[in-house]
Amino acid sequence: MPDPAAHLPFFYGSISRAEAEDHLKLAGMADGLFLLRQCLRSLGGYVLSLVHDLRFHHFPIERQLNGTYAIAGGKAHCGPAELCEFYSRDPDGLPCNLRKPCNRPSGLEPQPGVFDCLRDAMVRDYVRQTWKLEGEALELAIISQAPQVEKLIATTAHERMPWYHSNLTREEAERKLYSGSQTDGKFLLRPRKEQGTYALSLIYGKTAYHYLISQDKAGKYCIPEGTKFDTLWQLVEYLKLKADGLIYCLKEACPNTSASAGAAAPTLPAHPSTFTNTQRRIDTSNSDGYTPEPACLASPGKPRPMPMDTSVYESPYSDPEELKDKKLFLKRENLIMADIELGCGNFGSVRQGVYRMRKKQIDVAIKVLKHSTEKADKDEMMREAQIMHQLDNPYIVRLIGVCQAEALMLVMEMAGGGPLHKFLIGKKEEIPVSNVAELLHQVSVGMKYLEEKNFVHRDLAARNVLLVNRHYAKISDFGLSKALGADDSYYTARSAGKWPLKWYAPECINFRKFSSRSDVWSYGVTMWEAFSYGQKPYKKMKGPEVMAFIEQGKRMECPPECPPEMYALMNDCWIYKWEDRPDFLAVEQRMRTYYYSLASKVEDPLECGKGAEAASA
Ligand code: AMP
Repeated sequence: MPDPAAHLPFFYGSISRAEAEDHLKLAGMADGLFLLRQCLRSLGGYVLSLVHDLRFHHFPIERQLNGTYAIAGGKAHCGPAELCEFYSRDPDGLPCNLRKPCNRPSGLEPQPGVFDCLRDAMVRDYVRQTWKLEGEALELAIISQAPQVEKLIATTAHERMPWYHSNLTREEAERKLYSGSQTDGKFLLRPRKEQGTYALSLIYGKTAYHYLISQDKAGKYCIPEGTKFDTLWQLVEYLKLKADGLIYCLKEACPNTSASAGAAAPTLPAHPSTFTNTQRRIDTSNSDGYTPEPACLASPGKPRPMPMDTSVYESPYSDPEELKDKKLFLKRENLIMADIELGCGNFGSVRQGVYRMRKKQIDVAIKVLKHSTEKADKDEMMREAQIMHQLDNPYIVRLIGVCQAEALMLVMEMAGGGPLHKFLIGKKEEIPVSNVAELLHQVSVGMKYLEEKNFVHRDLAARNVLLVNRHYAKISDFGLSKALGADDSYYTARSAGKWPLKWYAPECINFRKFSSRSDVWSYGVTMWEAFSYGQKPYKKMKGPEVMAFIEQGKRMECPPECPPEMYALMNDCWIYKWEDRPDFLAVEQRMRTYYYSLASKVEDPLECGKGAEAASA
């Protein structure tokens, strides 16, 4: 994920305050001279360094909960570039406005942050190792979950650092520090018994000093009264640059060799009588304001579910043993049907069930054809099955097979969270826009796959996006879908049928022509449904009225909660001429960029415990 400031010529990346001041000095110290740098403390934050009256001023820019950027007490802006542009017009509390960018000298690239260098390789390794994925499944997991995985890695990265000792008492820490060279600044970090707190042990003048690291209510780490950080590794990196109240800067890591890594002794809380440093030491009974946080607040919330954590991310047939049995027609004796109805559609009801495979049993949804139906319906259901049988993507409901017994039955993997529009109704407060963007991004990933395989869906709508859980959506209902010929880019319907006109592009209605670009139009309507939290598109208008509305060049208005970037994309999906509309390759890219920009900064209040459960599964 590129830094949102990467393109700015006055962005220096991860440099220290002293380095920033050196650049400003070299550039002449004019009033209003400024540069931007990465904040070493908060993930995704910046610092604006500005010259006024021959003095340096440094303003931290925080990334806020709603994804905007702001200097403390100042107005919020959608990105670092917009923020700088604003302050170039209006000082709004700064000593002067931003007048002259201190651009990077030619050839100097922004300095990557500690995490930037490791990020991509770490994400890939982490996903591969954690979920044992390879190939396309691995790529799709990275595309759809990179921001979450990055956050997870960022918050656990310290565990892989040489200075982190996961199991060490204070006495053992001292022994380690005193053994070998006793250079000033040699340090290690260890968890304390009290959950969510750590100790930083440091040697200076041949004496060991221990500092308490605790978490505040927002989960930020700090040495009491010190600077706050999103992650432990950022805290350490910062204290390497600046002592910030410690007796000395952190220098050399006291490495976690196998001897210490395996130490089994429990970590004990430090005893106040053994303090050696005066102020920010480990002291749970001191008067400098430190109160241990209750565990529920101090520890970060439960990790949120990711699609790869579920049993329906990969096909049940991804196991070569199970693949041996893969056939379109399933044996009835392997299918157990429960008396629970999941929903009903044109063909009949959808029931919950279990399908017994070679090594495992899986939950399934069974579409049962009504008894009194005609052969035409049977053929149609079989056509739906034939299409689904050719598809295998984490963001599309997979067909397990067909069973011809007391009725014709389509056995599908289970997406028990219900349709997207129903799930979102009345949940404006509960489900943040970032969550909606995440689900819509997944739909675009599934649609990009269909486009690549030359299939048209023809019924993409929020009602046909089923949720596995709050963070995992799958495209369903392939009843109207068609496989295009290798050389065809569209399908022409012989006659108009019972069509979802509000979701259809003009060329579908006027010429019965269906392509991936007409699916893009439907995707725009699906986006509108999702960002309006389950409202019906075009209000009470009837199909023909909608057609006239579109022909007049009118389009639905931006739903109140919908971000402008998403409304712009929606409108591009509704470009009249199909050849001018973006394809799903472009739609997915735009969704991804937007979703990443939100996901990397938004801290979802629901993840902290209240109501973070799956949609209904
Ligand atoms: P359909 O006939 O495909 O429109 O499905 C009708 C309803 O059945 C949907 O709105 C869902 O509530 C439910 N349903 C369909 N497919 C599944 C599935 N694979 N998993 C869970 N529920 C499903």
